[in-house]
Amino acid sequence: MESSSQTEFSHAESDRTRGTSHDVVRGTIDDATRGTSHDVATLKISETFQSCQGEGKLTGTDSFFIRTSGCNLRCHFCDTPYASWNPTGDQLPIDQLVAMAVETGLQHVVLTGGEPMLPIQITSLCELLRDAGMHVTIETAGTIDRELVCDLASISPKLENSTPDSQQHPRWSELHQQRRMPIEVMRSVIDRSIDHQIKFVVTSLDDFAEINSVVRQLDVDADAVWIMPEGVTIEAMDAAASWLKPYCDDTGYRYCDRMQIRWFGNRRGT
Ligand code: SF4
Repeated sequence: MESSSQTEFSHAESDRTRGTSHDVVRGTIDDATRGTSHDVATLKISETFQSCQGEGKLTGTDSFFIRTSGCNLRCHFCDTPYASWNPTGDQLPIDQLVAMAVETGLQHVVLTGGEPMLPIQITSLCELLRDAGMHVTIETAGTIDRELVCDLASISPKLENSTPDSQQHPRWSELHQQRRMPIEVMRSVIDRSIDHQIKFVVTSLDDFAEINSVVRQLDVDADAVWIMPEGVTIEAMDAAASWLKPYCDDTGYRYCDRMQIRWFGNRRGT
């Protein structure tokens, strides 16, 4: 297990990752959830907490999590409906969020959601956190590009298997399909970030036709791709691991357990 004190990182920006002088916002944003010039200093936050990163290359790293509220997608399996289907939370000043992160004494902060790239204020929050010397991971579905540089873009493209039922949620089913896979937006997020990882939630081996196509189009290395089973119980993850892990071993993709469920169970604040 990697502790935060053992983790080293660099804030040095290469030309490849440095932002441009003009604002870059691509992707699809709901008018209802888009930031405005009137609330530029606050963000709607559903929760903040200190925990251990349970997924991906920083698994085991003590981190401060800031979960924004609001999402432009509606995955049927969303495990944070309080930040997507029914977004709740309080408007918190960005300065306060930075102070809270610094007070933890941790090096790592994770901006998650919901969709943290949805509010325009995320750009300022990310910049101020990095100015304070923190390593910033952004966990995003990759459908919105902002002019910001983060240390780790953790992109979780939403596959066909994520689309909500068209009978139950006709509007969201259509919007979700339209928005979920803008390859050029994801590629831009990767290019402006210091480091990246791509995470997919898999329900069956049939999903790999789409995964392989997305990985090809994104032009990312197989060892930057993390495959996670769908499931919010240890039993479900164990069952999926029996067929999914061997498949990942064969393809070169990395199998990704959800350690937070093993450590804490499926509950908020972990
Ligand atoms: S993108 Fe993430 S937060 Fe949004 S609905 Fe899907 S799983 Fe939930």
